[in-house]
This record gives sequence, C-alpha cells and structure tokens, in this order.
Amino acid sequence: MNIPKQIKIGGLTYRVDIVENIEDGVVGKIYYKDLVIKVEKSNVDFMALTFWHEVFHAMNSQLDHVSVEFFAQSVTQLLKDNPALFAKEEVPAKPKKKPKKGRG
Ligand SMILES: [Zn+2]
Repeated sequence: MNIPKQIKIGGLTYRVDIVENIEDGVVGKIYYKDLVIKVEKSNVDFMALTFWHEVFHAMNSQLDHVSVEFFAQSVTQLLKDNPALFAKEEVPAKPKKKPKKGRG
C-alpha cells in the first residue's frame, strides 16, 4: 500500500511523515495536538502496519494498545487479502441510443 502524505481522520487532517528515527525508541507515533503521524523508515509492510496502528490511535485515542494493534493487523491483512474491497466499481457503459430511423 502507499502511505499517504496526509490523511483525514474524524474531520482532522493529519500530516504523515516518514522519518529515519523517532524519539522514545518507537517505530510510529501520533502527535494529536500537532496533527502529525510519524512512521519510521523500515520494511514497507512493517511501515504499513505501523501507519495503520497510528491511524487507529487517531480514530479513538481511548483504545488500549492491544486493541489498536489488533485492528491494525486485522485491517492490513484484510486489505491485502481482498484488494478489490475498495477498488472502484466498473460501471457498465450505457447502451447507446439507437438513432431513430428516418425516411430517406
Ligand atoms: Zn500504539
């Protein structure tokens, strides 16, 4: 998945920064007041998981860490296993109207 440069969650737009290091020795962190999510550079799948982890923190800051991690892992796997879930549905082209036949 592509980690977006920003994401809107609960009406707030968070900037997403991919960084070399995060203080506190964590791999992801959300700064609620600054509306920033930081994800430390690493394996792309691990970064996606970290990104989703922080997104769930943003969705509900009261959720405990175990629940947040459960949702992050479940959702990333669900999206991987079902890529068509959010694919745009193909709308069949409208049949062209038959031109009225006139008398020649
Ligand atoms: Zn957490």
